[in-house]
Amino acid sequence: MAIVTHQPLQCLSLLRGCKTLSHLKQVQPFVLKSGLDADPLVAGKIILVAAITLTDESDHPNHSLLIFNQMRRHCLTPDSFSFAFLLKAAANCRTIHAGAQLHSLSIHHGLDAHLFVGTTLVSMYAECGCIASARKAFDKMPQPNVVAWNAVVTACFRSNDIKGGEDLFAVMPWRNQTSWNLMLAGYTKAGELESARRLFYEMPQHDPVSWSTMIVGFASNGHFDDACSFFRDLLREGLKPNEVSLTGILSACAQSGAFENGKILHGHIMKAGFSSIVAVTNALLDMYSRCGSIEMADQVFIQEMGKKNIISWTSMIAAFAMYGYGEEAIKLFSDMEEFGTKPDWITFISILYACSHAGLVDKGREFFHIMTHTYRLSPSIEHYGCMVDLYGRAGLLDEAYEFATRMPIEPNAIIWRTLLGACSIHGNVKLAELVKQRLSELDPNDAGDYVLLSNIYAVAGKWKDVAEVRGSMSKQSIKKDPGWSSIEVDKAVYKFVAGGDGSSRIGVEANKKLVEIMEKLKDEGYMPGVGSVLHDIEDEEKEGAIVRHSEKLAVAFGIARTGGVGKTIRIVKNLRVCRDCHVVMKMISKVYGREIIVRDRSRFHSFRAGSCSCGDYW
Ligand code: ZN
Ligand code: ZN
Repeated sequence: MAIVTHQPLQCLSLLRGCKTLSHLKQVQPFVLKSGLDADPLVAGKIILVAAITLTDESDHPNHSLLIFNQMRRHCLTPDSFSFAFLLKAAANCRTIHAGAQLHSLSIHHGLDAHLFVGTTLVSMYAECGCIASARKAFDKMPQPNVVAWNAVVTACFRSNDIKGGEDLFAVMPWRNQTSWNLMLAGYTKAGELESARRLFYEMPQHDPVSWSTMIVGFASNGHFDDACSFFRDLLREGLKPNEVSLTGILSACAQSGAFENGKILHGHIMKAGFSSIVAVTNALLDMYSRCGSIEMADQVFIQEMGKKNIISWTSMIAAFAMYGYGEEAIKLFSDMEEFGTKPDWITFISILYACSHAGLVDKGREFFHIMTHTYRLSPSIEHYGCMVDLYGRAGLLDEAYEFATRMPIEPNAIIWRTLLGACSIHGNVKLAELVKQRLSELDPNDAGDYVLLSNIYAVAGKWKDVAEVRGSMSKQSIKKDPGWSSIEVDKAVYKFVAGGDGSSRIGVEANKKLVEIMEKLKDEGYMPGVGSVLHDIEDEEKEGAIVRHSEKLAVAFGIARTGGVGKTIRIVKNLRVCRDCHVVMKMISKVYGREIIVRDRSRFHSFRAGSCSCGDYW
């Protein structure tokens, strides 16, 4: 940029052209040299531009403060605008220190109750998480405008004070679209979905933010059906979904395993030209991988993604990992490096997970080394957890235990739980007791741990110990997470609970079909595995209880409803698949000639022709 003038007006127009901080830095020396920085108009403009560019670049709050100090040295009185913009810059950078300094300066200049200054003070404190200060600044304003009201409501929600926000919202003298949307977001964040729904129908109009708030809000609270129906309403009103709604609805499909719905969305996305937005294609990839279609995920990754970022690469590596495709994950990792994308700590969690689920112990060790030495990333508790899992799954229980006791951070309950799981797989009762001891110190009330330990005893035939664990569980009234599984049939998602709901029509249908299936499997040589009873009730009911695990009900329902051969059955389960269900799924896949894909809490199982993709290693 060539500077050809010293005239204030031209200087101002030059400043107006500054769109970045580096632009501004180019102009600033000329302004200083010309002495024009003493011109109040020019100085004010510099601050304005600095604040605006800082707001965009949100990196260097100190720069604007420097300019501000310079201005004060030149005895220029800062006005309300400079304060407001500087406070905005401080808020965007979340620098409470600079913000508080500005606050006291504004008090000094008698400007703190000024409408613009007061409003930005409230939002600055809200952004920085200082709720009490935000409230104080708000209360000092004689006539707060709607922006100030919205800011103070935001402050309440940030501190999870839903009631406080609600009360303020009720007495607001006027509301704009933002106010309504804020209240909507407050409700969904607090999980008060019915209040959100009521408000949604009450509000004068819906903008893209209102729609995406409802879709994302319901989806993130586990109400996938509602999220989908809001999405359909949005389309029905002839509106175009935005990026937030699309990623929100895709994540809802991913979580509930709604593959058919996801495929329809895929069509919408391609048609509406959203495939160039990397956040959307990433969500699409994630949806396919979590709905059990690694082929479609791979297709999106290879053919349909315009741009790929670190999230795309990591998601695809994680997808391979969840299917136990260790080699493919490793290949993709080196492709990524070749492509010039630097792995981050999440990428390493995925690749370590891939190694552990494919039993690639040496590779896992190697990646842990690459991460710390080549990329100089310091491992977090998650990476240590992956390593314990890697050793544990491979049956190297002593290495796993030693690794856990030697790691530089204190192992948490998750690490010990991972090891307890490994003890369960490999039937190491002695180590399991030791690990459970550690767990009891950290997290004594986790039902899963008791269930695991009691299963380890059960597998070892130590029924007295099983009874003891159960006894102490009921004494401390620890409730187990109820197991559920969901399945999508004809674009509707059905959910089944362990034991089955005998009163619902769906439950009766599933139970009836399941009895028929189990009879057929018994003819084929199936023996119920009473050793592994994750959700057992009473000894004599053991067989009955495993027989009605939720994933068995879901698969029976799927077979009953989809009839003929060929179609893949996809099931999502919230807990880990037990050994018995695993055996049953393998047999069904052979006897009924169906592919069954089950996503459980930790991975995918793809059952085909009597065997599973996990190689019985999970
Ligand atoms: Zn089971
Ligand atoms: Zn499996």
